[in-house]
Amino acid sequence: MNKISMYRKLLGYQGANKKQPIYEAMPGALVTHAFIHCTNCGESISHNMGPRSDAWCVQCTEDKIVADAKAKAKAEEEKKKLAKIKAALKKKKEEEDEAKRKADADGQQ
Ligand SMILES: [Zn+2]
Repeated sequence: MNKISMYRKLLGYQGANKKQPIYEAMPGALVTHAFIHCTNCGESISHNMGPRSDAWCVQCTEDKIVADAKAKAKAEEEKKKLAKIKAALKKKKEEEDEAKRKADADGQQ
């Protein structure tokens, strides 16, 4: 963060996941008179400096980060569950194979 941006209000982000912050225009700066709207909720982020594609308001950006983290955690949990099921199936198959081997060995005697 540079010194100038520290004193300007954060309006939102260009791209989800806080890719690039959008700050309010510096006093006296020449800006376009086009709104910037949030891609996600449609709320106005700024009444100038627009148009911008893929602009996200602060709230939607934070909501998305939380939602992404939750989805990732859930996916990890599902992965662990699946690994457990796979391990249980593998163990069962090994036990069945062992029982079959024993039965075959008994049959040959
Ligand atoms: Zn939004």
